[in-house]
Amino acid sequence: MFRITLPDGSVREVALGTTPADVAAAIGPGLAKAALAARIDGDLRDLNRPFERDARLALVTAKDEKDALELARHDYAHVLAEAVQKLFPGTQITFGPATEDGFYYDFAPSPEHGPFTEEDLPAIEAEMRRIIARDEPLIREVWTREQLIDRWQKQGESFKAEWAAELPDAEELTVYRAGKGEDAWLDMCRGPHLASTGKLDPQAFKLTRVSGAYWRGDQNNAMLSRIYGTGWLNKKQLDQHLFRLEEAAKRDHRKIGQEMDLFHLQPEAQGSVFWHPKGYVIWRQLEAYMRRKLDAAGYDEVKTPQLMDARQWEQSGHWGKYRENMFVVPDEIPSTDDDAPILSGTADLMALKPMNCPAHVLIFKQGIKSYRDLPIRMAEFGCCHRNEPHGALHGIMRVRQFTQDDAHIFVREDQVIDEVREFCDLLDGIYKDLGFENYAIKLALRPDKRFGSDEMWDKAEQELRDAVKAAGRATEAFGWEELPGEGAFYAPKLEFHLTDAIGRSWQVGTIQADTVLPERLDASYIGEDGARHRPVMLHRAILGTFERFIGILIEHHAGKLPLWLAPVQAVVATIVSDADDYANEVVEKLKAAGLRVESDLRNEKINYKVREHSLAKVPNLLVVGKREAEEGTVALRPLGEGARQEVLSLDQAIARLAAEARAPDMKP
Ligand SMILES: [Zn+2]
Ligand SMILES: [Zn+2]
Repeated sequence: MFRITLPDGSVREVALGTTPADVAAAIGPGLAKAALAARIDGDLRDLNRPFERDARLALVTAKDEKDALELARHDYAHVLAEAVQKLFPGTQITFGPATEDGFYYDFAPSPEHGPFTEEDLPAIEAEMRRIIARDEPLIREVWTREQLIDRWQKQGESFKAEWAAELPDAEELTVYRAGKGEDAWLDMCRGPHLASTGKLDPQAFKLTRVSGAYWRGDQNNAMLSRIYGTGWLNKKQLDQHLFRLEEAAKRDHRKIGQEMDLFHLQPEAQGSVFWHPKGYVIWRQLEAYMRRKLDAAGYDEVKTPQLMDARQWEQSGHWGKYRENMFVVPDEIPSTDDDAPILSGTADLMALKPMNCPAHVLIFKQGIKSYRDLPIRMAEFGCCHRNEPHGALHGIMRVRQFTQDDAHIFVREDQVIDEVREFCDLLDGIYKDLGFENYAIKLALRPDKRFGSDEMWDKAEQELRDAVKAAGRATEAFGWEELPGEGAFYAPKLEFHLTDAIGRSWQVGTIQADTVLPERLDASYIGEDGARHRPVMLHRAILGTFERFIGILIEHHAGKLPLWLAPVQAVVATIVSDADDYANEVVEKLKAAGLRVESDLRNEKINYKVREHSLAKVPNLLVVGKREAEEGTVALRPLGEGARQEVLSLDQAIARLAAEARAPDMKP
């Protein structure tokens, strides 16, 4: 008999061979039906796997969404593989994990069929639905390595056979069989799985695309066909996801950036943005806003060198840990001799900064600092370079040259919690100003590989936790969560994740308390006791980088930026050429009031002009004709469906727009 403890603390005695499914059934038929899997002493397990010892049991249902999705997606991957092998005999299976929104599976297609294409997907989807309708039980079996290799070789599954031979000895080797009987389809898998394919909703998945992928991710290996799908618990979730994808495509910052003439990228400067005048207006407004907020919060702004000697990067530890992401530059004058190599290869090396931290420590170290000087809040809109692979680059969201809204706060030990709390308040106000009502705060805890003692980590983690509590934000409303293992190797960190208008989450803000770098670079201050002490260094950012944040803003607002950030705030458009002089006068007066205005005096129909400026997301159109010119009025027409046109006196219109165009921190 085993003693099984349920979450409510009650204990059940069960006989050998009893499964979590049996316990669910004994509790009630409703739970038996709803149960998808079990947590046994915290580990996710199959519902039908018998208990092996006394244990704590929690039944997993669709309400445990994260677990339920992970299980369903893993099952969809198996069902996909089974369907493909049924429809396309000779296809070899390899691997198929769950992903963030679904699953994929890598296949080695038969030579007759060749790589899979999107045309194959509808038939595969239909076959997957048949497998789900058959409600095949997913049965776990423990096999020996010899059995596995034998089975795969007999079936001509060379990839699986190769993998089976390499599975670690210590591991129990399991397969999952879809249905009873010798011929039932099976895959080598650690599990766990849902009890049967019928637990999946046949309307809650969709195959989305096909791509190539190398076996084991190595380009010297065979090229496989990867089929991707998105998978959910029910049709409603799938529909919402597909809607989000469609919306995301409409809001793609690369598309809007072109339509609004904000920036471009080109291969001659991989991953570095060419900001056009209109795009740079957004940048300048955002930078000016941030500068005002930082000034008010007691930061000092600095500017540090782009190029620093490799020895400096060695000392800071970046040369060892981070060099593959750095652009290295020899410190020498290139040869102009046609016969000689341009670079000698013997010069000292320098590197473009990938981060600003060491340079800020060097400023801190100038002159003697006393405990009374702290905290020192050193900010830099720091332009950094990181050598990312070309394939990883994405519009202005993932680039190689970027500008961080970086700062380092040097504090005494006793100031950490207060500073972090104040940072939480500053960041909260800024996100709200920028139109983000919701964000989540997460505490990333110590990773396996780390510097420093356990006491140091206990303390550092507790301080961040306490600071968020003191700021009143360690709550469900703020998505408060602790993420084991996800901290940096030298410090735990708080992460701030924005939720955008279509429900996507973006990590932008961060703060971490670091004692390692001050130590490595020998930064110190004189304490009240007259002795030298190490400051704690808080690395923190609110926007992350200007490039990515502007990308997020564009997608969040679908290009319809708040008036204070809009590159062009109004266009004055004429109905007839008689109004040209008046239109010019209106433009001058709006400019004098500090607004960014353009005129459109073209000989085009007004409806045509309205359509064009709407497409360019111009927030306000001021329409003027002969009558407006005579009466000194304008017809003000805000962007957007259902917006009413309103005739105002020119002075009224200017006053209204000027008030609306104030940055959020400049509003009365
Ligand atoms: Zn599996
Ligand atoms: Zn830093």
